[in-house]
Amino acid sequence: MSIIQDVIASAQEKDIGQPEFLQAVQEVLTSLEPTVQKHPDFVKAKIYHRIIVPDRAILFRVPWVDDQGEVQINRGFRVQFNNAIGPYKGGLRFHPSVNISIIKFLGFEQIFKNSLTTLPMGGAKGGSDFDPKGKSDGEVMRFCQAFMRELYRHIGPDTDVPAGDIGVGAREIGYLYGYYMRIVNRNESVLTGKGLEYGGSLVRPEATGYGAVYFAAEMLATRKQEISGKVAAISGSGNVAQYTIEKLLQMGARPITLSDSNGTIVDEAGIDREKFEYILDLKNYRRGRMSEYAEKYKVPFYANQCVWDVIREQNLKIDLAFPSAHENEINGENARAMVKNGCFCVSEGANMPSNLDAVHEFLSSGVLYGPGKAANAGGVAVSGLEMSQNAMRLSWSREEVDQRLQRIMHNIHQSALEASEAYGCKGNYVVGANIAGFTKVAKSMLAYGIV
Ligand code: NDP
Repeated sequence: MSIIQDVIASAQEKDIGQPEFLQAVQEVLTSLEPTVQKHPDFVKAKIYHRIIVPDRAILFRVPWVDDQGEVQINRGFRVQFNNAIGPYKGGLRFHPSVNISIIKFLGFEQIFKNSLTTLPMGGAKGGSDFDPKGKSDGEVMRFCQAFMRELYRHIGPDTDVPAGDIGVGAREIGYLYGYYMRIVNRNESVLTGKGLEYGGSLVRPEATGYGAVYFAAEMLATRKQEISGKVAAISGSGNVAQYTIEKLLQMGARPITLSDSNGTIVDEAGIDREKFEYILDLKNYRRGRMSEYAEKYKVPFYANQCVWDVIREQNLKIDLAFPSAHENEINGENARAMVKNGCFCVSEGANMPSNLDAVHEFLSSGVLYGPGKAANAGGVAVSGLEMSQNAMRLSWSREEVDQRLQRIMHNIHQSALEASEAYGCKGNYVVGANIAGFTKVAKSMLAYGIV
């Protein structure tokens, strides 16, 4: 049995009941196979075995009181996976599906993503099975305060700097940060995604979506193609999806889909600037549903269906895909239908939105396939820039941050492409991103000895 197969088998034996985590381990470790020959020192120091075990995983009780005066209990998580190259960094997710498997998979992926950005950030992730949907502002605030009442002792500007993710946007970050400051009596850079008035960075809200489009543009350029004039499918309608749409519009594409957990809209005329402004208001201020978009603009709404099911069933022609909702939203059958319907470039705004079968389909069909850890790294990259600005106690202009973001996405693309070439599978961004991200972390772990 190869060392890689041995590590995967050990995870399957020890991490029973954690399917998402095991899927991520399998995807990453399999692609690291070519590094084994080149790095006997990694093998000797058992780096492959060590990297799949988090430094620590914290599980805690979050008790809070709802508007009816009832006591509610949620589970809170923070998995600090690896800080070899910098303080732990990774988002907080509030969604009913959150469990230790999901947080571990996200924290594991975050190690390699953060390394790829070239910024000094380790990998972590956290969250809760709390569902902010349908809760009043007061309930969300009391939950965030109860969550921070335990989390604060595990984080710090040089220890662990969380950010947002699904269900954690500007409102939640504000409540979390306000309560942290109240407890520790220090105004310090312990969260990113903060409001502009209190230490946030320009372009942070836009960064993941913009970055996913910049990454797609980089991939397209390798085939002398561009974003302009292409038809794009986007899933989700949250932070990542919204700013993916905005950047696509700026670069001349025609976005035609969006979704939420109730269903999918298809707007073949294109989601234009006016409709985009409506979506921002609908989702961020009125906290409404995509079905309202369908009613307003008289376009089809496919209830309880995800974007990729709709593309398959309605035979929708698309050029580009930006899955931006959640993990495993694209299965093999959907991937085959997307390719058949003309899709030749997939840039993942979400984390692990394509299952292993779908990834295999994209790679074997020659699709330009940008895995999440490369394509959506723009968010954490600008979080890193937020930390730098906080440390220097200054703010860069929108243009400066956006230019740095573009440069980082260009460099991530280059290093993934070059690593794929160096290891004999040019253009396979899965292998390239994993190897480029892993090598830096592994060399640091090696330097530290057995710790
Ligand atoms: P938001 O909470 O802002 O939006 C999530 C969107 O996806 C919503 O439209 C939501 O619908 C939909 N969604 C979530 N879960 C499900 C589900 N199980 N079934 C159907 N629809 C679902 O999150 P973000 O936009 O921030 O995050 C989206 C993805 O991008 C996630 O995978 C996240 O990990 C990843 N990501 C985010 C980054 C960031 O900077 N925000 C950085 C890097 C990656 P509904 O409102 O109905 O729940």
